[in-house]
Amino acid sequence: MNPQFPYESIQEVALRLQAIIETAIDGIILIDAFGIVESINPAAATLFGYAEQEVIGKNISMLMPSPYNEQHDDYIDRYKKTGKAKIIGIGREVSGLRKDGTIFPMRLAVSEVQLENRIVFTGIIHDLSAVKQAHEKIHRLNEELESKVITRTEELASVVNKLLNTNKRLQYEVQERIAAEEALRKSEEEVRIALENEKELSELKSRFVSMASHEFRTPLSTILSSVSLIGRYTTTEQQDKREKHINRIKSAVQNLTGILNDFLSLSRLEEGKVSNKPTAFDLQLFCTEIIEELQGVLKPGQKIIKDFPKEAIQVFLDERLLKNVLFNLLSNAIKYSGEDRPIYFEITQELPNTLCLCIKDEGIGIPEKDIPHLFSRFFRATNATNIQGTGLGLNIVKRYVELMKGKIRFESQEGKGSSFWIDLPLRHTPID
Ligand code: ADP
Repeated sequence: MNPQFPYESIQEVALRLQAIIETAIDGIILIDAFGIVESINPAAATLFGYAEQEVIGKNISMLMPSPYNEQHDDYIDRYKKTGKAKIIGIGREVSGLRKDGTIFPMRLAVSEVQLENRIVFTGIIHDLSAVKQAHEKIHRLNEELESKVITRTEELASVVNKLLNTNKRLQYEVQERIAAEEALRKSEEEVRIALENEKELSELKSRFVSMASHEFRTPLSTILSSVSLIGRYTTTEQQDKREKHINRIKSAVQNLTGILNDFLSLSRLEEGKVSNKPTAFDLQLFCTEIIEELQGVLKPGQKIIKDFPKEAIQVFLDERLLKNVLFNLLSNAIKYSGEDRPIYFEITQELPNTLCLCIKDEGIGIPEKDIPHLFSRFFRATNATNIQGTGLGLNIVKRYVELMKGKIRFESQEGKGSSFWIDLPLRHTPID
């Protein structure tokens, strides 16, 4: 009686075990102590490609590929002698040899069965071909994936590199373009300024031509009439009349020279040819000489009353520019004042480093509405139209004063007179 299955006979148990073995999915092979196959189930026979009868009674090594088949008997012998086995009770991955010579991977679990009078070994075989194939496939796929990743990474790196290079090139091109645009803008600006200057100069010239044709007429007709009168005064007694006309001619020529000088100064200023070249000189001496030079143009009864500091003032200024400025202002004071009117010329030092020169008259003054335009080129006040002039003098004066790093200001009242002040830097040593 079987204690596990008390109601089954031995035969029934044997039959049931037989059925289990016959239908098992894994292969089951039974060998004796000499490695001779005692039984093989259908799954194992199919796995190795043999009919069961072809294997039973043969050495198990026929199912093993070289070199294991040759070594198998030694394994068994060693195990029997030493009791040490590499495989028994452990189960491991080995290779199987099919009838057609192909080799396949399998998991082999061997167990030792002690029968009544002998030992047999049972091997349970699980085909690993599919698992192996799947592993290999995974491995291959992994390798493919890795190589793809490497390739893609390299491609990406090259794309990134290309992008970086393109970016650099673009940045460079943008910079070049900005520089080119800047250069273009600059040259356009230069051309525009040059054109404006050209236009202004040509406008100046045409205005001068119209002004000169008007202003030249009076002195020229004076010269003409005086010359023809001188021709008529032939006797010695008429010498004073001749002299009167000679003086008239002189003054008319002076007038013409003045107009031409003003225009010449303006053109030189426009062309940027006038520069400040200071030298050291005695200011009072310099101004006294100018007053002397102007004595010839004073109207009857006019006087230039000077009020200069007693101590000599040593200045460091451009003599030519300063002379022109003072000549212009004093000439205007003379020109726009009547006979017997005084002209005051004062030098003061109000601030420690500033010199102030003032020219004051009691002449016709400047109408209030004309005051804002006084320093514009060709501007003439409305009350001055019957007095000869070009409207250039004050414009030149202002620009000369500014070249000397000074300032000009004025006060005027129509009918009462005008005062012009020039503030100039007082320097004893050549700093500029
Ligand atoms: P110009 O005297 O040749 O006309 P300026 O440029 O010297 O030219 O002077 C511009 C204008 O300013 C003059 O036409 C005149 O109307 C006015 N002006 C200048 N100085 C005086 C002054 N001292 N008194 C009155 N008006 C003046």
